[in-house]
Amino acid sequence: MRILLVEDEPAMASALRSALTRQDMIVDHLATRADAEAMLSESRGIYDAVLLDRQLPDGDGLDLVRRLRAKGDTVPVLMLTARGDLIDRVAGLDHGADDYLGKPFAFEELLARLRALLRRPPGMRSDTVRIGRLSFDFVHRETRVAGQMLAMPRRELLVLESLMRRMGRMVLRTFLMEAVFGLDDEIQSNALDTHVSRLRRKLAEADAGATIDGIRGVGYLIRETT
Ligand code: CA
Repeated sequence: MRILLVEDEPAMASALRSALTRQDMIVDHLATRADAEAMLSESRGIYDAVLLDRQLPDGDGLDLVRRLRAKGDTVPVLMLTARGDLIDRVAGLDHGADDYLGKPFAFEELLARLRALLRRPPGMRSDTVRIGRLSFDFVHRETRVAGQMLAMPRRELLVLESLMRRMGRMVLRTFLMEAVFGLDDEIQSNALDTHVSRLRRKLAEADAGATIDGIRGVGYLIRETT
C-alpha cells in the first residue's frame, strides 16, 4: 500500500517514513499543503491513505481535506496535530478527515488507526480474500496457502496486494508501478516484470491454486488455476 505523508517537521517526517517503510508500505513525503494538493489531484487514486499534519507552513491541513472532499476525492485521511483537544478533533472530522491523532502519539497507535482506515478494500465485505488455496489478509498483510504462511519480500507483497484487491480483473501496469515504487525509488523498466515472475514461481512452488497472467506491456491479473 502507498501512503502520502504530509509533514513539515523533518525529524517527525523521517521517523514516520522509516517506521512505515518497515511495515512494508511505500511512503511518499511532501512538506507543504500546496505540494500535497497538486500531488493528490495529479495522481488521484494511487494513495491508499494520507497522513496529514494539520499545521503546515503554507496553511491549515484542514483546508486541504475540505478541498479534497469538495472535489469528491474520498482517499482516507488521518490528521496529525499538536492540537489534540476535543474541539479540534470535532472540527477535523467535520471537515472530512477520517480520523484524528494528537501529537505526541505512540507509533503503535498510529499503525492501529491506519489499519482501521485501510481495513476494507472498497466493495469488499471481508478483510481476507481467497483465490484457489491462496488467501490474503489486508489487515495484517499476510499471505497464506492452505493456512500456511507464505513469506515474501516487500515488493512482491505489494504486487500481490494490488492484484488481490482486484482479483480476476486486469490491473494496469502503470497502476502496479505506482503501487510498488515510491517517488524516490530508482526504477528499472523491467523491475516490475521481475517481481511478478518471482511471485508467479512462488505461487506455483507453493501449489497455491492461483496464477498470474499478463498481457505484455498492459498489465497483470491473478486468477484461479484451472
Ligand atoms: Ca507542522
